[in-house]
Amino acid sequence: MQVGAIDIGGTAIKYAIVNINGDIVYDGTIATKANLGGLAVVEQVLMICKELMSCFEIEGISISSAGQIDNVNGRVCYATDNIPGYTGLPIAEIIHNKIDLPVTVENDVNCTALGEYWKGAARGVDDFLCVTLGTGIGGSLFLNGELYTGANFSAGEFGHMTLYPGGLQCTCGSYGCYEKYASSSSLENLVLDAYGYPIDLRDFFIMTKQRDLRCLKIFDRWLDDLTTGLKTIVHIFNPSLIIIGGGISAQGEYLRQAIKTSLMKKVLPNHQRILDIKMAENNNKANLIGAAKHYFMTKQKG
Ligand SMILES: [Zn+2]
Repeated sequence: MQVGAIDIGGTAIKYAIVNINGDIVYDGTIATKANLGGLAVVEQVLMICKELMSCFEIEGISISSAGQIDNVNGRVCYATDNIPGYTGLPIAEIIHNKIDLPVTVENDVNCTALGEYWKGAARGVDDFLCVTLGTGIGGSLFLNGELYTGANFSAGEFGHMTLYPGGLQCTCGSYGCYEKYASSSSLENLVLDAYGYPIDLRDFFIMTKQRDLRCLKIFDRWLDDLTTGLKTIVHIFNPSLIIIGGGISAQGEYLRQAIKTSLMKKVLPNHQRILDIKMAENNNKANLIGAAKHYFMTKQKG
């Protein structure tokens, strides 16, 4: 038993064949034609579905997507203008009508959490949070052994907590949001401000690990903002694990230790006792594995 899994992001659409054991047996990536709008992106997804169906025997399509997703009806409740016209699109319905296979859709960070619970860093953990650091900050709540998605599929928007009232303006229109200070984009901006030219974060981390003073100062400031936000979330949900996802998680043990050391100083003793930090194990494949998991779970529920 296997499904086609597709991850729709603002810059890339990833796809794979995932079997019932969570193994990826085939995968690929194409660039998202985000500037052409939501319908064009769904058309790209449809082409991928047809290609997968012509090469593999699959029982359905599981989709992981950016934006707030109604995971029951497979519809985009809300998305930013990264993909214009994406808000409101009934993705599952559009695709199902064209290919006549079951289609499920779930938010991408929720898929990361499901993927890590099934096959990664959160195996066997019933209370954990997933925080993805990218252009913004995404969040997912996994509580009492299942995803918590809120009253209308929008829980876990950690990126829009206010960190500095009256601070930098955010894409959401508000000021001082967490993601304006602690996302990987904001780290890139801090580097740009300090150096006057952009530096790839991989090179930045090499210099930071070599104890370059200017880099360390930038890193410490960013880290302090990151863990101040995490402190709030930890005190509300009392998780035993926080999984850090996004490209920056490739920094591995160095970043994990830095986050853990900084955060432990900020949380109350009883939270501290249970809490661990891990980097996402499946990196950019977690969403695909998690999308498949969402599909199999939905099917099991009937
Ligand atoms: Zn915001």
